[in-house]
Amino acid sequence: MQIHHLKMTHHKLNLPQKICPVCQRPFAWRKKWAKNWESVKYCSVRCSLHKAKT
Ligand SMILES: [Zn+2]
Repeated sequence: MQIHHLKMTHHKLNLPQKICPVCQRPFAWRKKWAKNWESVKYCSVRCSLHKAKT
């Protein structure tokens, strides 16, 4: 059964994603956000600082 093997490989891509409101690019879950992913809004520190500019 090759299908089973495919499923295993696909699992790697199953990370949650969000769109960064600053650069409008999707970014995926990272280990460093494991505890606060709910409140993560920006893809990077750079983008989180950028919004302060307004
Ligand atoms: Zn960004």
